Amino acid sequence: MEKLDLRILDKDPIRLFRCEYCGCQVPSYNQESTFCYFCELNTSGMDEILKKYPEFYTAITSLTESMNASKWEDADEAMRSLLQMRKSPEMSYTAGVFYKAYSDYMYGNRDYEYLGGYREQNAKNINAGITFFYTSKAFFYSAISQANKNLEADDKDPNMLFVKFMSELKLKRLSDARDTLQRLNQISGSVKSAYASMLYSSTMKDKRSSTFMKQLADIGMINSFYYFAKLLTQENRLLEAKSILIKMLTRVNMPAAKELLDDINETFEIV
Ligand SMILES: [Zn+2]
Repeated sequence: MEKLDLRILDKDPIRLFRCEYCGCQVPSYNQESTFCYFCELNTSGMDEILKKYPEFYTAITSLTESMNASKWEDADEAMRSLLQMRKSPEMSYTAGVFYKAYSDYMYGNRDYEYLGGYREQNAKNINAGITFFYTSKAFFYSAISQANKNLEADDKDPNMLFVKFMSELKLKRLSDARDTLQRLNQISGSVKSAYASMLYSSTMKDKRSSTFMKQLADIGMINSFYYFAKLLTQENRLLEAKSILIKMLTRVNMPAAKELLDDINETFEIV
């Protein structure tokens, strides 16, 4: 297994991007672009540029701020207006990620112990969880079909191949994702291709995944540390994984990293 150089996390990030798809503020160790820690699309969005589109800027910032405050109804409203404003495979994909998170939140909100006397509320939360789960899937399928349409005009568009790959991976359509990844890899030198390779090999629990993690970590792509921690967890190296996640979370507020850290902490409690 390749080792990742963690020293980069000791330094302050050098840029602050604003994801132009979901509105997250993304600290970055790379000058050019980074991968959003929420939607995982490649972003080089800057506040000063995005503010030139005030309506759009208000909607993306409202989406992320409402999510951070667990005001999911407000976030939902922001997501709907974003979908009206911008029709693109990336926006449909982001809606897929958003409704999956909303679904998890609602489903996680069911609580038999404390809400025991409020079964109706429990049933509502569970139903909303299921509905948003299917809404999420529908958006990923929509992203794929829009990307396919655009790829008919230009079959080497890395952005379209990347969003198609991401959607296929989210839907666990792994053989489609593998085909799309092969197409993306034929376009040389793309950072999206390295990121997609990392995600695919990580999903397949392929030992070579650490090679891509190292490649991305070396150019300051912070999400690679999360996937490295995940790999360590699979190898039962929980303490190492934990220390990376703690370090990483001081720099970037990645929900998946928090969840993995919680899982590790729970494991320690059981043992
Ligand atoms: Zn994003």
